[in-house]
Amino acid sequence: MDQGASTFTFLFTGAFIFIVLYIIFYSWRDVYYFFCMQVLGESRWFVSKEREQFILSELEKIAYYRNLSKKGKEYFYHRVLVFMLNKHFFGDGIKMSDEIKIFITASAVQITFRIRGFYIEHIQLIRVFPQSVWSQMAHHKVKGLTTGAGVMWLSWPDIQRGFDVPDDGINLGIHEMSHAFMLSAHAGGGNGPLCRRFNDWLKISHDAYRDLQKGNDSFFRKYGATNPDEFFAVSVECFFERPEEFVRLYPAIYSSLCRLFNQDPLNKEKDYKLGLS
Ligand SMILES: [Zn+2]
Repeated sequence: MDQGASTFTFLFTGAFIFIVLYIIFYSWRDVYYFFCMQVLGESRWFVSKEREQFILSELEKIAYYRNLSKKGKEYFYHRVLVFMLNKHFFGDGIKMSDEIKIFITASAVQITFRIRGFYIEHIQLIRVFPQSVWSQMAHHKVKGLTTGAGVMWLSWPDIQRGFDVPDDGINLGIHEMSHAFMLSAHAGGGNGPLCRRFNDWLKISHDAYRDLQKGNDSFFRKYGATNPDEFFAVSVECFFERPEEFVRLYPAIYSSLCRLFNQDPLNKEKDYKLGLS
């Protein structure tokens, strides 16, 4: 073979391999993100500088993120990328945008921030609406819904309201992600550590739930009396948005949520690390 032919073969083979790798790792998202999560851990590969800057500037609007150290913010950002790019978002009557994806994703990352490698696997499809939507299942309009089939419905204005007022104990993103968290924790037979910690929380919070059901004045909003799942989601909203009152009024329930999420929202100095406040 002459020199020209071997150079051509070399270049052709190189280009072919490059194209194949490009298709596998860039265009075929599932393989790429599976690779990122399983082999590399969280990764920022292939995200343009402009998009990175936009995501970071949007995250600054979120109180939980703003309180993190530089290292904590980097870690939060990595987790946002893995979650956001690994779930399917669909705008139903609303144009899907990075802004919408970022705020919804931040809700998930906030509650799982200190549970390494856990990305609420239960949720695969997130449908976003421009307002509350009629649910055949609930027989009324809902702001959000999380199904056992891995689908989440969310009203975008209500997601925004949740983050605009970060200390009123109402946050739709955190509420729905709590349902999805619980479903993910129970996956695979429900014998894992998250499931055990969730069952501990059920026992510890039982009296407070019964009080709410009786209609007694409570720190928790009335919607939590609907059933134990809603009480959990309402408690998690308060855990992140009203932690000072929560720990003062219900220290045992607060501690059990700290153990479940492996974080303490009161420990703002140490990126919410558990056990120091
Ligand atoms: Zn709910």
